[in-house]
Amino acid sequence: MSRFFSSKYSGLVPYTPGEQPQDQQYIKLNTNESPFPPSPMAQRMARQAAGDLQLYSDPECRELTAIGAAYFGVDREEILFTNGSDEGLNFAFMAFCDEKHPAAFPDITYGFYPVFARLNGVPYEEIPLGEDFTVNPSEYMGVGKTVFLANPNAPTGIAIPVSEIEKILISNPDNVVVIDEAYVDFGAESCVNLIHTYSNLLVIQTMSKSRNLAGGRLGFCIGCRELIRDLNTIKYSVNPYNVNRMTMAAGIGAFADREYFRFCCEEIAENRSRSAEELKKIGFLMTDSLANFLFVRHPKIGGRELYLKLKEKGILIRHFETPRLKDYNRITVGSAEQMKTLTETLTELLKEYT
Ligand code: PMP
Repeated sequence: MSRFFSSKYSGLVPYTPGEQPQDQQYIKLNTNESPFPPSPMAQRMARQAAGDLQLYSDPECRELTAIGAAYFGVDREEILFTNGSDEGLNFAFMAFCDEKHPAAFPDITYGFYPVFARLNGVPYEEIPLGEDFTVNPSEYMGVGKTVFLANPNAPTGIAIPVSEIEKILISNPDNVVVIDEAYVDFGAESCVNLIHTYSNLLVIQTMSKSRNLAGGRLGFCIGCRELIRDLNTIKYSVNPYNVNRMTMAAGIGAFADREYFRFCCEEIAENRSRSAEELKKIGFLMTDSLANFLFVRHPKIGGRELYLKLKEKGILIRHFETPRLKDYNRITVGSAEQMKTLTETLTELLKEYT
């Protein structure tokens, strides 16, 4: 730390992103990216947009906003595009949390929530997940705090029903409830249709996973127009050109190519079920994931050891060191071929442990 670093950040522990190794080619199953390239339409449009990079991007994202709004059946004033959904989450912490509106989220969830809370000086409560890693919705009912719930949750992949989210919304009328639907397209139920019923609902989604644009950095927030207006106040105070031209064009292409989107989601859901079955056959235990990852442990091998052994063999998965997670690993669901290599490698590796 330099002697110039503001004391308000001196205790800040930043978020640790998953490894993005540049040294060798791994089978990369560690950061929940898509194994498939962006839609050809998205790629073509991004290439075209590169020719206009001397110009600033449209701060209102007009074309993308119109297409996104039509896609979800909401008004243009009800959707805001951001630089990855991480930016939307940070905007939500800035806009809807303070001393009087502390945040509440599970103790095991997306690791960026506590970082955003601390960055913005927001007090927060971490509500423990159950023994089986489930969110107990009743613990959020009437909690009187700004709620952040990833649904499906990460890194467990477990989803709660929309009917339970409605109860959380109804019982916290004076607080915003943020539902982070980063992984919703792989099989869970979305809350987007509820934004006209609940003025305290903010849904956040990303184009990083199901629309194969993690490197483009594009996410979006959907909520009633007052909430979106507040987020715009933050956006125009931080970074009005938050979505660059190429990403905006890629986003338009990705929304237009519905068939490719469907294909990718179906393929991931299928590979998830097949891999889950294969892994169970060789002794893995796991949660019931509806996301593009499996959250697994094996009774015969520790989480860190498994992660290291696989890395030696050229396969990267995500290991977390925290006490409740250390026996587990999160494995992104990749292509059928990648998952076949994974199960074969694990089968071979486990022979050392019988
Ligand atoms: N929410 C959750 C639950 C996530 O796991 C992630 C991805 N790491 C994000 C949001 C952020 O994704 P992005 O910024 O790429 O949209």
